Amino acid sequence: MSWFDPWEQIEAVALNDEPVDRVLARAAPAVRATLARALSGTALAVDEAEMLLGTDGDDLVALVRAADVVRETDVGDAVTYVVNRNINFTNVCFVNCQFCAFKRQRWEEDAYTHGLDVVLGKVEEAIGRGATEVCMQGGINPDMAPFTYRDILVEIKQRFPALHVHAFSPMEIMYGARRTNMDYPAYIGMLRDRGLGSIPGTAAEILDDEVREILSHKKVDVRTWVDIITTAHRLGVPTTSTVMYGHVETAGHVARHLDLMRRIQEETHGFTEFVPLGFIWENTKLYHDGKVTPQPKGLRDLRIYATCRLFLRGAIDNLQTSWVKLGHRLAQLSLRAGCNDFGGTLMEESISREAGADAGEYTSVEEIEALITAMGRRPVQRTTLYGRVAPNGHTAAAPQHA
Ligand code: SF4
Repeated sequence: MSWFDPWEQIEAVALNDEPVDRVLARAAPAVRATLARALSGTALAVDEAEMLLGTDGDDLVALVRAADVVRETDVGDAVTYVVNRNINFTNVCFVNCQFCAFKRQRWEEDAYTHGLDVVLGKVEEAIGRGATEVCMQGGINPDMAPFTYRDILVEIKQRFPALHVHAFSPMEIMYGARRTNMDYPAYIGMLRDRGLGSIPGTAAEILDDEVREILSHKKVDVRTWVDIITTAHRLGVPTTSTVMYGHVETAGHVARHLDLMRRIQEETHGFTEFVPLGFIWENTKLYHDGKVTPQPKGLRDLRIYATCRLFLRGAIDNLQTSWVKLGHRLAQLSLRAGCNDFGGTLMEESISREAGADAGEYTSVEEIEALITAMGRRPVQRTTLYGRVAPNGHTAAAPQHA
């Protein structure tokens, strides 16, 4: 069962609203100098991010306060969200990531693979509840026919042409390309031409091959992840970007991961957002094998969100909190640590729930808007690509992320 730092400590850090100069004055000189550079718009170095990821006490208060000021300066008071549904169409997977509690072997009693009719039924239900997006990811199923991903996509787009399909992680793209004997440009181009709107930048965890060897030695390696993502960007398929923190990684790993994201974005401009994802340890092999020490939620999350806001400044504007991983209250407070996006309504999120997350699977539009408004911020429904959704439900053109 996950636990939190004392709420009064979390709130004292997140809700501090002293003038930024005053909190900076209490910070250690090196932290103060780094935050001043970030506030002035100077890009931070990797070792500065690493230092910020180790802050506590007054230094952490200053970090979070600086991130909030930068968020307000760069993207204003709006907090966006998307009405979407996750569809995890199969939990059968042979990859065996040590941090994953979602996967099943095909012979296990609760293994499932949805047929097309089930997937289409879920899409229809989502649209009936106002969804503009479905997000589809699943296990890496050895029984999958080579063109399954394409065929699911084609069926959805034929029935629901206006729906944005955000689907297929780099791991799934790697597997799909391998099964069809296509190279990445051909495979991604085929999916794009059949209506794939964007790709989740998941399967990233920490982009360091030594860490990945511990987490999952069969997982897509760093070079391939970057190849798939940059190929998608070059083909005009945007992606999100993520990091998974709170397991075996060090602050240095996270800082270098952020640097890689920033360098990719400077080259391709294809990331729509950055999503830090806290590791849910409860039901995982990594935890049961004693390879991770569980950490309380709260201060570590504020620290990482704030560092991401500052380090990615000028490269990735949209920083998404995760109510699924953090729970509603901490997600709310993360809006004061640099976040400007609340993610999606979801309706189904099996992956975090299986690992032990307890925030539920669905947060309604009304509830998301109330959570945002209670923080003194302005809720704005968006499309997947950060266009606005008009009150009549029609989608406006997305802004250019170039
Ligand atoms: S994270 Fe994905 S690839 Fe890894 S075991 Fe779980 S479902 Fe399979």
